[in-house]
Amino acid sequence: MKWDYTCKDCGVNTRKGKVNFYSVTDELWKEFGVGRGMLCLECFRKRLGRDFKKEDFPPCYLNYFDNPVVREIINPTEEEINELHNKIRNN
Ligand SMILES: [Zn+2]
Repeated sequence: MKWDYTCKDCGVNTRKGKVNFYSVTDELWKEFGVGRGMLCLECFRKRLGRDFKKEDFPPCYLNYFDNPVVREIINPTEEEINELHNKIRNN
């Protein structure tokens, strides 16, 4: 089955560009997300009802490097980037 990358709330293609493809913590996604569906960053923020903070995004390549908006929110330190690299290497 083909994965549906359409935002469940506004219908935007979350795979178009990089800003709408991200990963949040399981806790947040369980409470505000749409299960196996997708939400663009802005629609998820609306559901969340507040601005994002660093802790909302788990350390992963996607959040740290791929998504420029999320990267700005996290603003990972050199140490955190190194930790992520170690984590990826050890998996
Ligand atoms: Zn949306």
